[in-house]
Amino acid sequence: MPSTTTVIIGAGHCGLAMSRCLAARSVDHVVLERGEVANSWRTQRWDSLRLLTPNWMTRLPGYAYRGADPDGYLSARQVAAMLADYADASAAPVLTGTTVTSVRAAGGGYAVRTDQSSWHAPTVVLACGAATVPAVPALAGAVPAGVTSVTPAAYRNPGQLPGGGVLVIGASASGIQLADELHRSGRPVTLAVGEHVRMPRTYRGRDILWWLDAAGVLDQRYDEVDDLARARNVPSMQLVGSAGRTVDLNALGSAGVRLVGRLAGIVDGVAQFSGSLPNVCALADLKLGRLLNTIDAWAGSAGERFAPTVVRSAPLGLDLRSGEISTIVWATGYRPGLSWLHVPVLDRKGRVIHDGGVTASPGLYLIGMPFLRRRKSSLIDGAAGDAAELTGHLAGHLDALAGRRMRSAS
Ligand SMILES: Cc1cc2nc3c(=O)[nH]c(=O)nc-3n(C[C@H](O)[C@H](O)[C@H](O)COP(=O)(O)OP(=O)(O)OC[C@H]3O[C@@H](n4cnc5c(N)ncnc54)[C@H](O)[C@@H]3O)c2cc1C
Repeated sequence: MPSTTTVIIGAGHCGLAMSRCLAARSVDHVVLERGEVANSWRTQRWDSLRLLTPNWMTRLPGYAYRGADPDGYLSARQVAAMLADYADASAAPVLTGTTVTSVRAAGGGYAVRTDQSSWHAPTVVLACGAATVPAVPALAGAVPAGVTSVTPAAYRNPGQLPGGGVLVIGASASGIQLADELHRSGRPVTLAVGEHVRMPRTYRGRDILWWLDAAGVLDQRYDEVDDLARARNVPSMQLVGSAGRTVDLNALGSAGVRLVGRLAGIVDGVAQFSGSLPNVCALADLKLGRLLNTIDAWAGSAGERFAPTVVRSAPLGLDLRSGEISTIVWATGYRPGLSWLHVPVLDRKGRVIHDGGVTASPGLYLIGMPFLRRRKSSLIDGAAGDAAELTGHLAGHLDALAGRRMRSAS
């Protein structure tokens, strides 16, 4: 069985950032990737997707965007190309086409089995993605036959869907972008809205992410927030990668997208929506106001305010057998795919329990999860700081192991 000091699982931006940081400390390692470098950006993104983060925020250890359009937004294809170049420039030791099938504790470290070979290493970094498996609620099982279900990971473009009306479930980044695209393609779109994070594309003449970055909001650390479990579950921001264009519920509603409450159930083919739409919209407006207050306090003066979300009367039920809806898009989030992890670090929902990416199993680390160590941990821009700190911890663990070995040898 080949051995190395660290096995990194996944060659997305997080795995590559870890590789770069470990290489800087001369820690011998390998990056195991089931597809190609940046597999998620090649296989799980719709055709029109652009990053919602501006190009200048595409920063990784030893890499910063130097192109001609710092305020633009990379397409998924451009992200994949950028990460492939980054892996080459870093000489990252990536083994592509290598799917990890099990990780177990063994011999004071970990045995990592793949469909190609097996590895032994004292340390393992799980960089296999927070958004690997679409999280579709169990009630999807009650969708009547004849209505097509699709997730954002499988959706490519409007032409792929059968004609007719579309019900989009979820109004976070993926949901509003797909509702917008499908509506523009000429389809009647209904959008089921639960808790969401309203965000203007620009504020005080600049991209909102410029303000969040400059005011330090994205750098807020995981040990500084009052309710970390809640902070880690906050939905993604309602943003689209298109300069100056805000796609919020007001924009969608006035364009003709029908807004309804959160999907609460499907009974006898009828989708039932919660009556909470006015409340969740009021809460999102309130939270946006608080965020803008934070920015204003940092800027030292008050900026503009946005009109409250307009909530028109919304139906509480929609008969999915009537033919009005031909497709449901489940923009209900994602979860990691860790069925192969046989180390007792999972909670009852199958999530890795960790303290800023450090698990209770010595030498086992995690990167790329929401609010892992900072508010921006799930963004490309969050990987540099997280990878540097986890590398520091991992190096300390290796030093402790070496010290123990020396003491037992003497
Ligand atoms: C729709 C969408 C839009 C996003 N937009 C933005 C944005 O605008 N800006 C931004 O900063 N962030 C954005 N993100 C968030 C984030 O940057 C991406 O989710 C990013 O892909 C996460 O990087 P990662 O390296 O953690 O995981 P991934 O990029 O998912 O990389 C994980 C890798 O692990 C591999 N892998 C998984 N399981 C195994 C296994 N068993 N064996 C071997 N390899 C395995 C996968 O093939 C994959 O290549 C977006 C996310 C999504 C889902």
